[in-house]
Amino acid sequence: MTVYRLGVLAGDGIGPEIVSATVNVFKAAAHKVGVNIEWIDLPMGWEGINKHNDPLPEVTTNALENTHGWILGPHDSAAYPPEHKVKLNPSGALRHTLDLFANIRPAKTMPGIKSVFGEADLVIFRENTEGFYADRNMFAGHGEWQITEDVVVTSGVFTRKAAERIAHAAFKMAMKRRKKVTIVHKANVLRLSTGLFLKVCREVAEQYPEVMVDDYHIDAMAAHLVRRAKDFDVIVTENMYGDILSDLAGELVGSLGLAPSINSNEKLAMAQAAHGSAPDIAGLNIGNPTGIMLSTVMLMEWLAEKHSDNKLEEIAKLVEQSLYQSLKDDVKTKDLGGHASTSEFAEAISERINQAV
Ligand code: ATP
Ligand code: MG
Repeated sequence: MTVYRLGVLAGDGIGPEIVSATVNVFKAAAHKVGVNIEWIDLPMGWEGINKHNDPLPEVTTNALENTHGWILGPHDSAAYPPEHKVKLNPSGALRHTLDLFANIRPAKTMPGIKSVFGEADLVIFRENTEGFYADRNMFAGHGEWQITEDVVVTSGVFTRKAAERIAHAAFKMAMKRRKKVTIVHKANVLRLSTGLFLKVCREVAEQYPEVMVDDYHIDAMAAHLVRRAKDFDVIVTENMYGDILSDLAGELVGSLGLAPSINSNEKLAMAQAAHGSAPDIAGLNIGNPTGIMLSTVMLMEWLAEKHSDNKLEEIAKLVEQSLYQSLKDDVKTKDLGGHASTSEFAEAISERINQAV
């Protein structure tokens, strides 16, 4: 039987609390389904700085190469000593050096959670490696230029290769869902750059004739999302638009503590909640682990497909359903108006996993 090796990078702030809650729940589910998972704790963030003088030490990056995937907790990189701030933060560095080009962020209404925009079940595919972000384009950290004290020029990088691979990832997902893809761009203004993104996505679409395709400008898309989110299924877009849209979509279906994501390429995947390290509530055992748990559900689904292993899919379903059942039963953390602690919430989910038939 395959032993799946999964890295656990607990990180800063509420990271250790929500990540250990997550691992406990998945241990219960793996036991129930009969899958062997080895969980490998690796230092990241303050633990990395304290032990190895590096928020993303080499022992961690080396060990990740021998895993099937990993959970990345949040990091409070704004608080690191100045010598550690000159580099990319741990999550940026992992995305960049391992070329995790797809940031996949679903927004789905959940039982027992008030949603601002009614029913929604959509997935945003955000290109993760280029676009307008200065720290990740081919100018290697120099994507912004100070011309005078009062004038700054910025750059964006758009390549066919990056658009093609994120488009393929999105269309493949669409084939498993409602067979609908929406391309988001701003080709009326940024004609060459986001125009190329649109053109390449349209070309890729021709290879998936069963999938319905439409496209919107980013500004119009924001309005449509708020007004009629349920009409959208898979959304594919460039880096910055994806960043903004997924925060919007995440917040509309619930709260920051709920939003999951994975970062992946063809070979590797990393589960990462959308929220930060929440230092204001760290150590109080009240952080909501839902976002990181649902990210790990996505990681299991990704692994299930990659290794053609239905049992991992079973684990994903079992955790997702037991988590939803807990919310339905009004077991909720403080951010959702409930009284459950982080560990009580996790225990409630594990109980439901153990009782499942
Ligand atoms: P970052 O720069 O790391 O993204 P941020 O400034 O966006 O961080 P977060 O750490 O995400 O901030 O937290 C924003 C607010 O939301 C804080 O008040 C925090 O306590 C709350 N929050 C974030 N995540 C959770 C969570 N999982 N459970 C409960 N509250 C949370
Ligand atoms: Mg943030």
